[in-house]
Amino acid sequence: MRRLYLILGDQLDRDSLIFNDVDIENDCFWMAEVHEESTHVWSHKQRIALFLSGMRHFAQELREKGLPLWYHSLTDAKFDNLAEALAHTITTEQPQEVWCVRPGDYRVFESLVNTCKQYDVPFKQLNDQHFLSTPKEFKQWADGKKQLRLEYWYRELRKKYQILMEDNQMPLGGKWNYDQSNRKSFKKEGPKSVPKTLSWQADEITQTVIELVNEKFSDHPGTLDQLHWPVIPAQAEQALVRFFEDCLENFGDYQDAMWMDEPFLNHSLISSALNMKLLHPLQVIQTAEYYHREKKAPLEAVEGFIRQILGWREYVRGLYWMHMPGWLDMNALQANQDLPDFYWTGETDMTCMSQSIKQTLTYGYAHHIQRLMVTGLFSLMYGVDPKKIHQWYLAVYVDAVEWVELPNTLGMSQYSDNGIMASKPYVASGNYINKMSNYCKNCRFKPSEAVGDDACPFTTLFWTFLDTHAETFKNNPRMGFMLKNLERKTEKEIADIKAQAIKIRHSIAQNKH
Ligand code: FAD
Ligand code: SF4
Repeated sequence: MRRLYLILGDQLDRDSLIFNDVDIENDCFWMAEVHEESTHVWSHKQRIALFLSGMRHFAQELREKGLPLWYHSLTDAKFDNLAEALAHTITTEQPQEVWCVRPGDYRVFESLVNTCKQYDVPFKQLNDQHFLSTPKEFKQWADGKKQLRLEYWYRELRKKYQILMEDNQMPLGGKWNYDQSNRKSFKKEGPKSVPKTLSWQADEITQTVIELVNEKFSDHPGTLDQLHWPVIPAQAEQALVRFFEDCLENFGDYQDAMWMDEPFLNHSLISSALNMKLLHPLQVIQTAEYYHREKKAPLEAVEGFIRQILGWREYVRGLYWMHMPGWLDMNALQANQDLPDFYWTGETDMTCMSQSIKQTLTYGYAHHIQRLMVTGLFSLMYGVDPKKIHQWYLAVYVDAVEWVELPNTLGMSQYSDNGIMASKPYVASGNYINKMSNYCKNCRFKPSEAVGDDACPFTTLFWTFLDTHAETFKNNPRMGFMLKNLERKTEKEIADIKAQAIKIRHSIAQNKH
C-alpha cells in the first residue's frame, strides 16, 4: 500500500485536504471506532452516539463514492484503542506512509505519531482547513508579546477575512466590540418567546448506534432515547438556518441570560457540528454578516456571534497547541478537592446547579454562561482538582474535543494556568446568578446571604475564595474592587463565613447539599 489516510471522529470534513491526492488503487482510508475514545473519560451517551453516528454516515458516503476504506467497528470490538487498531492495519497492509489531518487532541496526536514511529512508517500531517488560522500563525502572532488578549487576535482575523469591515481597515460601525450591549438579563418577565429547536428522526444508522451505545455503555452518564444533534452536513445546515432565522436577532442581548427549564434560549447549538467539521466556520460567519447587511439582524448581535467563532474559537485553539502538553498539569491555585457527586446526577438543592447539570445530563448541552458562571464557578470556588473538572467537561458535553474544552475549562474557568487564558479568575457571588436568571427565585437559598441556614453556597465560597487567595491576587488590578470589599468585612464576619464554608463542604462531602 502507498498511503494510509486516517480520518478521526472529529474530522468529518467532506472537503478535507486528505482527499486531494488519492490513488484509489494503492491508497486506503482508515476510520476506527475504539472503546477507549468513549471511556478515557466517562463519556455522555449522547456524545458517544453523536460521534459514532457521524462517523458511520461519513463512512457510508466514502463507500458510495467508491473510495477504499478500512473501518474498524465497535460492534466487532477488536481493538481497545486507536494505537492498537492502527498497529494492526500497519502490520497487515504495510503502508509506505500514514497521513492524517492534525488531530484535535494532543493525546491522540501523540499516540498516532508514536505508533508510526514504532513501526517505522513516516507520519505526515495535513492542515485542518476547518479553522481560519493555523497553530503556526498563532504562535508567530503570540511570540514576543508579554500578555496575549483575544481582542487583538480577533481583530487580526477580522482584517484577514474582511469580516464586518469598511474600507479594509475600519470595523463596520466604528467599533470592534459590542460586548457591553450584549449582557442583558430577562428581568422578572422572562423571555417573551423561546425559539423552537429542531429534531431529526433517527435513520437506520443512528438507530443502530443508539442501541449499541445503550448496550455497551449502559452505565455511562446521560440518556439516549433520541439523539438530539446533527450527524450529517444537511442537518447541521438546517440547525444553522433555524438559528439565523429565529435566534440571531436576540442572540447578543441575551447571550449571558439564563432561565428555569429553558436549556437553549437564543443559542445556536452548532458547536458539535462545527467541531465535527459538518459546518465550516467561514460559512457560518459570512452568513451572519449577510444577515446584518440585509438588515435582518442588528450589528451588536452579529458582532457578538462572530466574535465567538472567529475570535474565541480560533484563539483557544492557538493557545492549546502553544501550551500542550504542559497545560494539563498546571494547578496554580493548588485546588485538590474531589468533584462533588451531584455533578453526575444534578441532585442538589442549589437550583442553578441542578438546572445546569440536569439539562447537561439530558442533552449533553449547557450554554456558555451555565458552563462558566454556574458549574465552572462552583468548581473554582469549591477548589476542585482541575484535572477532575476537566474530565467532567470533556465527558458530558456533545461538543467536547480537547483543543476547545481544555483551554475553556482549565484556563478561562478554573484559572489553573495562572492567567494564560484569562486576566483574572471568573469569580462571583450568588448575586451574579440572581441578576442573570430566575434560578434564585426558585431556590431554597438566598443569593445575598453568606451565613446562616439560607446562605447561598456561591456567596459563602466567593468570600472564602477571595480570603484564601488575597495574597496571590493583590497586584491584579482587575481584582482590586473585590479585594477592597473583602477588606471591609470585620474579622467576626470573615470567621462566620469561614465556619459556614466548612459546614457547606461537610454537607457536600456527605452528599446532602
Ligand atoms: P453559541 O452560544 O451559540 O455560540 C456560537 C459558537 O461560538 C459556538 O457554537 C462555538 O463554536 C463558539 N464559541 C462560543 N464560545 C466559545 C468559547 N469560549 N470557546 C470556543 N468557541 C466558542 N465549546 C466547545 O465547542 N466545546 C467544549 O468542549 C467547550 N467546553 C467549555 C467548557 C467550559 C468550562 C466553558 C466555560 C466553555 C466551553 N465551551 C466549549 C465554549 C462554549 O460554552 C460552547 O462553545 C457553547 O456553549 C456551545 O453552544 P452553542 O453552539 O449554542 O454556542
Ligand atoms: Fe444558585 Fe445561590 Fe441562586 Fe440558589 S441562591 S440558585 S444556589 S446562586
